[in-house]
Parts: sequence; structure tokens; C-alpha cells
Amino acid sequence: MQIIIFGSPGVGKGTQAKILAAKLNIPHISTGDILREAIKNRTELGKKAKEIVDKGELVPDEIMGGIIKDTLNDIKCKNGFILDGYPRTTNQAEILENIFKTIKTEKHYLIKLDADDEIIIDRLTNRLVCNKCGNILNNTEVKENFSCPVCNSVNSYAKRADDEEDVIRRRLKVYHKTTAPVFNYYRDKAEIIEIDGSLPIDKVTEEILIRLC
Ligand code: AMP
Repeated sequence: MQIIIFGSPGVGKGTQAKILAAKLNIPHISTGDILREAIKNRTELGKKAKEIVDKGELVPDEIMGGIIKDTLNDIKCKNGFILDGYPRTTNQAEILENIFKTIKTEKHYLIKLDADDEIIIDRLTNRLVCNKCGNILNNTEVKENFSCPVCNSVNSYAKRADDEEDVIRRRLKVYHKTTAPVFNYYRDKAEIIEIDGSLPIDKVTEEILIRLC
């Protein structure tokens, strides 16, 4: 099954993609995670991307196209994948369509999650991420000697550099101007599933699974 999960930053794409990847037994490909890993390891890609990601801007399409091509051509993706954070421009969507022509593709799904910007700002300003396993946490649940419910690591969490309010607002602006219009590109190319991303996590998953089957 080939799935694109689409929506604004903080709408729950990563959370749902992780759950769906485990349930459907397909890899979760997050371009944001790929870039953060490259930045952490100070690779050539990381050096090029750091300043752009920290400012909440988009990494150029040629760079992202190369990453996505290499990733989707990997054997791990041969039985499907869930793509989170790509495409973010219409040009990226066209690059992806060309990749789909070269790999064996079935009908693909586009899951669109929506939530108001104020909900997103509230979520992201309170978001923490486990340093060890990437599990997403909320500021209010993290107390002294906090242990991650997924990997049990103690007191090992951080705020993403791009989760500061001014950068969140910048990312939302970029989303509305450049990424949201990409949805139109898929109207006649994918099976579209639209879900209210402000619902509780398990409810969103349930709704998605009903619509996928
Ligand atoms: P995310 O984790 O999906 O919120 O992505 C974090 C940041 O990585 C974004 O704000 C962008 O700076 C960069 N990024 C991730 N995916 C893409 C993409 N497809 N195109 C351009 N930049 C991206």
C-alpha cells in the first residue's frame, strides 16, 4: 500500500504515520526525520539543510527529489510505504509522479489531516521529542525522572529547534502558501481520505483505517 500523509506541520502526520506503518507493516518515510538525522551527523546534506530547516523554510526541490528517489528505490519500500512530509511543493509532487512511473505502483492513497492553526501552535509549542526513539511527548506529561513510555529512557527529551513559536508561524505560512495547493494536484491522481486532525489520536487512526479498508 502506498500512502502519502498530508497536512500542516503539527497536524499529527508523524504520529499517525508511525502507527499506520506498524499496523500495515510498511516503512514510514519522513523527510523531516531524514534531514534531522543528516543535520545531527553533520553530513554534506545536513550542512546544506541546517540553516533552512532551523528557519522553517523548505529545502530545495532538487535536494529533496534525490533523497526521495534513493529512498523509494530501496528494497524496503517494494511492498509499499507511508510518505510523511513529502511532497511539499507541486514540483516535488511531479518528481514523485515520475518516480511512481519507474517503480511498481498500485493505486496510491493521500490522507489529508486538517486542524486550525491555533490548535497547531498550541500543540507544537508544547511538543517534546524523545532523544532516543523519537516518540512525541507533551510538555505537560514530562515530570522529574520522566521515562519515555516507548523506550523507557529517563530524562532524555528535547524540544525541536524549529518548534519555537516564531519558526512555527513561519512553517505554517510556508504550508498555506506553498504546500496546501499541492492537494489539488492529487484530486484526480490518488484515493483521497480527509480526516479531522484535531480529534484524539486513536480516533484519527480508527477513521483512517476504516477508510483505507
Ligand atoms: P517535518 O519534520 O516534516 O516538519 O520537517 C521539518 C523541516 O524539514 C521542514 O520545516 C523543512 O525545513 C524540512 N523539510 C522536510 N521535508 C521537506 C520537503 N519535502 N521539502 C522541503 N523541505 C522539507
